[in-house]
Amino acid sequence: MPRIPIAAGNWKMHFGPRQAEEFAHLLRTNLVTLVGVEVVIFPPFLSIPATQVAVQGSNISLGAQNCADQPGGAYTGEVSATMVAECCRWVILGHSERRGYYGETNAIVNRKIRQAILAGLRPIICVGERLEQREAKQTSIVIEDQINACLSEIANDEIERVVFAYEPIWAIGTGRAATSQDATDVIDLIRALVTLRFGTAAGEAIRILYGGSVTAQNIGEFILSPTIDGALVGGASLKPEFVDIARAIAEAKRP
Ligand code: PEP
Repeated sequence: MPRIPIAAGNWKMHFGPRQAEEFAHLLRTNLVTLVGVEVVIFPPFLSIPATQVAVQGSNISLGAQNCADQPGGAYTGEVSATMVAECCRWVILGHSERRGYYGETNAIVNRKIRQAILAGLRPIICVGERLEQREAKQTSIVIEDQINACLSEIANDEIERVVFAYEPIWAIGTGRAATSQDATDVIDLIRALVTLRFGTAAGEAIRILYGGSVTAQNIGEFILSPTIDGALVGGASLKPEFVDIARAIAEAKRP
């Protein structure tokens, strides 16, 4: 079974409800005929309902950028996975900005994965190394630790709902993307780790994205790699350029 590629747009803390609705309309209009790629956008929580109205009935899905690690209750400022699941199919977990700025450890990410899966969401789980780790040739060990930590949280019948994103931290928002070969090597490693734990079928089926300074100019290099199943896009997902990225992914992966 060929893996359906994904064009995911992480809007981060951009676009309030009004702007989000406007931009989602633009995406909808320009992507209306596009097939062969799953397009998923991740607005800030507050902008999700307006975006939902704009993309309803279209080929664009919605996700949240985070969810709580607890099912509900007295956790001021948090949004539970079940609340997210009322509006969205997807959630990004373990993004390096959350790990780095908000102290999310593997243990916290694991609790969030559990909540997301219980709520029926599809998590995009991000992993990636820091620049000094890459320079010290520790990339494989860092990725192995992150992947094995979160795989322990996922059961055999749940792995098919999970997507991984390899996002080297030094490439996020810096304009300095990884090379397609470096991304391929790490994504092959992630696939091997999934295979080791869940078997060949799961390893072949799991979708793994590259993220880090993806643009309409460089997406072609990444998507040519048979093991890279699409992109998690930050900065360029805030511009009409995201339409070109989604189209390029669909085109390159057409069977
Ligand atoms: C991201 O936020 O996941 C990301 C990859 O950002 P950018 O594309 O801006 O590097």
